[in-house]
Amino acid sequence: MNNLYWIFEKDGRYLIIAVHVTNPIVNATLNVKIWRGAEAGSYQSYAVPRSAQQTILDVVTYIQRELDSTLSYRFSCRVGMCGTCAMTVNGTPRWTCRTQASIYDDAGKIDIAPLSNFPIIKDLVVNMDPFFEKWKAATNTIQHNSSNTQEFATIKPDSTKRKAANKAIECIGCGVCYSACDVVRWNSDYYGPAALNRAWSLLNDERYDNQKQLIDGVSTGAGCLSCHTTRSCTRYCPKELDPSGSIAGLKQEILRTLF
Ligand code: SF4
Repeated sequence: MNNLYWIFEKDGRYLIIAVHVTNPIVNATLNVKIWRGAEAGSYQSYAVPRSAQQTILDVVTYIQRELDSTLSYRFSCRVGMCGTCAMTVNGTPRWTCRTQASIYDDAGKIDIAPLSNFPIIKDLVVNMDPFFEKWKAATNTIQHNSSNTQEFATIKPDSTKRKAANKAIECIGCGVCYSACDVVRWNSDYYGPAALNRAWSLLNDERYDNQKQLIDGVSTGAGCLSCHTTRSCTRYCPKELDPSGSIAGLKQEILRTLF
């Protein structure tokens, strides 16, 4: 982005005009490589015409609609709310609808692959089942005693627990943090940051009982004690959540139960 300014002066008075201009398109064509096939696939190259404000999701959509209709990929909202369009772009997991193609002008190439740490179904589509199975395993021990006939619980926004869970409840389960997690890569049993982030928000939910069971559930080898605090989850979460902080909170709670 550039700003252009004109300054006019008359009789000691100044008029400043500022014009905001977007970057000119550097290359008319993008050289894009996309992963094709399943685990044993390979990259295939495509030439995609540049356009203003073009996102990586636009690039993939152009290829699917204009160049190769057999390309499989996922998306839904296209406005950064659902997280379904998450892919790996030049080695980094991200929401492709929120990623401008122009940020790769310096790299001179755009390589698009499915999210890491997930089984590939085809091309850019991954199987999210293991991710949600772990989500369930990390949190389904929690119980509550309320019934449908009871009034809604009143949770004060400034209560200590509500504040502790505040950020964590905004997770939309996109899997970007799971894809970025080195521990998931080494240890396929590890629940991963999103599931443990959810466990942290439930642990701080005053409506639920049996927090002890939840702590026991996340204290196993698949749980939070396997986290090496590399903080990749927090670095790459598109919603700027802090799963690493949630995992640290769980570790503190485990320690508290020991003494
Ligand atoms: Fe996505 Fe962030 Fe939730 Fe991880 S914590 S699943 S990156 S929204």
